[in-house]
Amino acid sequence: MILNSLNPAQQEAVRAPLGHQLILAGAGSGKTRVLTHRIAWLIEMEKISPFNILAVTFTNKAAHQMRSRVESMLDIPSKSLWIGTFHGISHRFLRTHWQEAGLPQSFQILDSDDQFRLIRRVINALNLDEDRFPPKEAQWFINAQKEEGRMPEQVEPRDITGQTLIRIYQGYQETCQRAGVVDFADLLLKTYQLMQTNATIRAEYQKRFRCLLVDEFQDTNTIQYAWLKAFAGEHNSVMIVGDDDQSIYGWRGARIENIQRFSKDFPGASVVRLEQNYRSSAIILKAANAIIAQNSSRLGKNLWTDGKDGEPITVYAGFNDIDEAFYIVNRIRDCQKNHFALRDTAILYRSNAQSRVIEEALMQFGIPYRVYGGLRYFDRQEIRDALAYLRLIANRSDDPAFERIINTPPRGIGDRTLVSIRELAKTAGITLWAALEQLLQQKHFSARAEGALLSFVALMNSLSEQSASLTLHKQVELVLSASNLIDHYRKEKGEKGLTRVENLEELINAAHQFTQEGVQDDMPPLAAFLAYAALESSDEQAETYEDCVQLMTLHSAKGLEFPIVFLAGCEEELFPHYMCMNDPKSLEEERRLCYVGVTRAMRKLYMTYAECRRMHGKESYHRPSRFLNEIPAELIEEVRFRTNVSRPRPLANTYRPESQGKFRIGQEIQHRIFGEGTVVDCEGDGDEMKVKVRFANVGTKVLLAGYLEGK
Ligand code: ATP
Ligand code: MG
Repeated sequence: MILNSLNPAQQEAVRAPLGHQLILAGAGSGKTRVLTHRIAWLIEMEKISPFNILAVTFTNKAAHQMRSRVESMLDIPSKSLWIGTFHGISHRFLRTHWQEAGLPQSFQILDSDDQFRLIRRVINALNLDEDRFPPKEAQWFINAQKEEGRMPEQVEPRDITGQTLIRIYQGYQETCQRAGVVDFADLLLKTYQLMQTNATIRAEYQKRFRCLLVDEFQDTNTIQYAWLKAFAGEHNSVMIVGDDDQSIYGWRGARIENIQRFSKDFPGASVVRLEQNYRSSAIILKAANAIIAQNSSRLGKNLWTDGKDGEPITVYAGFNDIDEAFYIVNRIRDCQKNHFALRDTAILYRSNAQSRVIEEALMQFGIPYRVYGGLRYFDRQEIRDALAYLRLIANRSDDPAFERIINTPPRGIGDRTLVSIRELAKTAGITLWAALEQLLQQKHFSARAEGALLSFVALMNSLSEQSASLTLHKQVELVLSASNLIDHYRKEKGEKGLTRVENLEELINAAHQFTQEGVQDDMPPLAAFLAYAALESSDEQAETYEDCVQLMTLHSAKGLEFPIVFLAGCEEELFPHYMCMNDPKSLEEERRLCYVGVTRAMRKLYMTYAECRRMHGKESYHRPSRFLNEIPAELIEEVRFRTNVSRPRPLANTYRPESQGKFRIGQEIQHRIFGEGTVVDCEGDGDEMKVKVRFANVGTKVLLAGYLEGK
């Protein structure tokens, strides 16, 4: 039954005897399908307990999908089956073995913003100049070392700067240790180290995970590979699945050589190639093959489909980025008329910043959409504040949380007070909370500061006491009201304050939902919820069933598929990205990214570019992307903005002025989103008229007259 819906090559991979396997195949050839079927096969036919299987994928979304597919095939709950991301699985492991890993039981996870702030504090504490040692660069350095599995003492300094960076790394690591927090990279590194150094734990896990399966293997980095080897040991079966043409995380340390290393390190591995693509129309597949053929460093493979040619690829040349966005939105409306669901459409782009203009166009037409991987819910300021309270309740040593809320909402604790707390923490090597308590005992502060600090300590202590007997969402509710956070944000004027209050209230719902789903029952609910907020939620923002257009970067589209795909911003400098244009290796990675983008499309692909685009605050002109030229002309249908493009018309609920097209240079106007501005140029007439407007707050923009109101 499991084999029914598979072709012979896929079947061979799924029913192979236990042992190592390497599945190397192009996009859409059913790699992920083989992996899920293999899990089902192992359980059903090889009678391997789900408890003995470990499956690793790249995103939480993919992990959830995999779990539900396996469950639907087998009709059993797969709870004991470990499916997750490298980070998620490592986290689960460390929660079980916190003691052996030298962590407090309630250890917290720093996300990259927390990490950045902490690194900045370390740089200042070392009396280094932030201009010479920018925290962002130090952060990059530290993460790169960790991805290679190197602790500060194992890094070879290249020069004086390198030596200083190592000192920062060292200082950062000590602070994390003291505060009982770990960053994302630590999750993997500490898991790996524990597997290396603790023979009992190593034996336990190597005995347990008899079958290991890894999807998207081409994007594993050094530490992930070492991690996998540590779990696999000498005797367990490992199946890896990947596509060298889709390796797109070289910039984050992914090692494509891991594929070659695999055959050496896991002797006897059988190699399966899948060559039939089931996802895309023949035209889309031909275009993808033509693009990737331009890369020289490839393992090489041949991908075909017996599907229909399908529609040509539409390449649209926009007048500017706004025009490009309206073109896309117009086409989406056409698709809607043709009974496509909105969720069947994805808009993909190279850089996050591109989404704003597209979002505005979608908003103008009232088309619902979701952005994956933008500023996610748990990253918003007010949510991070609330989470910091919860973190400090769970762990008084959590210095980053302490820093965040000591004076939020403002309670009259000034910089001088904070400096003395930090100083003592640094010199005595203790946490900020401990330093605060010590200074209070010594009556170090002025009467006013002391009053404020005492009430902060009392607040935290009472929150801890009260929340001990409450359910998770009641704890959240208590924190929000007792901390005055809700009242604080309620005072913030206008839309923004309102949204923040709504977001905070949503946190209560999120906590409620979280406990109901009982995601991880081997952990205290608060700790589990905080870990979820830091880790599990990052690519789940779009996990609702509302029918909406999906917006995401090309990187986060990996592994997914959509009937209709728009690839926006196909211009030199933007895609390929200007940072990658001068280095042949990086350029090949950009091309692979393009291959990933094109192969997400099942039925129809649009590729769009703008002749003029606002980038980094100024208008710039770029040539169409070289990747467009790499597609054979006969596969393309070109559309230019001046010819047969139907202009968008606003819906009834957006504003439509009486006197459309009657704008003149110098006229004062009003725009629903951009506010007040002055017309500096016009072109065309009627609703289709393009008006260039200098706005007071957002700079100059070219807009359609239909969206403007004269003053
Ligand atoms: P990517 O490289 O993008 O991750 P992939 O190789 O993992 O792609 P899948 O996502 O597993 O490919 O499969 C692509 C699509 O083809 C899916 O919709 C899948 O259901 C379908 N598919 C795969 N194999 C078959 C088959 N033998 N018969 C019918 N459909 C198939
Ligand atoms: Mg896949």
